[in-house]
Amino acid sequence: MLTSITLKGVSYAFGANTVLNQIDLHIEPGSVVALLGPSGCGKSTLLRLLAGLTQPAEGEIHFGDRLVAKTGWALPPEARDIGMVFQDYALWPHMTVAQNVSFPLRMRHIPRQECDSRVAQALARVGLSDFADRKPAGLSGGQQQRVALARAIVAEPRVLLFDEPLSNLDSELRGTLCHEMATLLRQLGTTAVYVTHDRREAEILADRIVHLSAGSVAADRLITSSGEFA
Ligand code: ADP
Ligand code: MG
Repeated sequence: MLTSITLKGVSYAFGANTVLNQIDLHIEPGSVVALLGPSGCGKSTLLRLLAGLTQPAEGEIHFGDRLVAKTGWALPPEARDIGMVFQDYALWPHMTVAQNVSFPLRMRHIPRQECDSRVAQALARVGLSDFADRKPAGLSGGQQQRVALARAIVAEPRVLLFDEPLSNLDSELRGTLCHEMATLLRQLGTTAVYVTHDRREAEILADRIVHLSAGSVAADRLITSSGEFA
């Protein structure tokens, strides 16, 4: 179920402000691509286009051979088979950890028993097996982000999208979680796009780093498995 992602001439503007300018990008199935660049360069906008949260002004986006967006049209997020992790965790405060994580499965009408076993597996993967019945407010930031990660992977989506997921955490925790996520992404093998302004994070997590600058791809390079530039 691996998929490639292809952007062809994708542009986006907020009014007169052109935020993405004719982006062409092909992402190989199963690769982890970091989108790196300074604040305001268009990273989140590009990720929102990949998620189907907004529509391109120009261009096309394909997941494998499936068209998911074109000028003025976007397949909605729930029809894209994606998992997302945001900077602010975006957990539902009134739900327990297990209810948060099971949400994508309930949306897909997965039977209860399978739901329970998949949730248990996802929580085990992020080291939170003992926290299933807690509410998010009772967890640390790092733990909340692990819950969001479990929720993103529980339905085994074909694309994972991350928008600066570690930015709200202190530097020590950021390092720990970054390495854990790198391991997890390699185990899963899912095609992933990881937005960050932190070069270290990108080098640890990604197979390839795409630098965005003022809405265009400024550089694009592969990373070897040793973490050094190819
Ligand atoms: P990044 O994630 O790289 O920091 P964004 O994609 O969030 O960048 O933003 C890119 C540009 O679009 C910035 O100049 C920002 O000011 C502008 N922008 C972002 N969101 C909005 C919005 N809702 N309305 C108008 N302009 C926006
Ligand atoms: Mg952003």
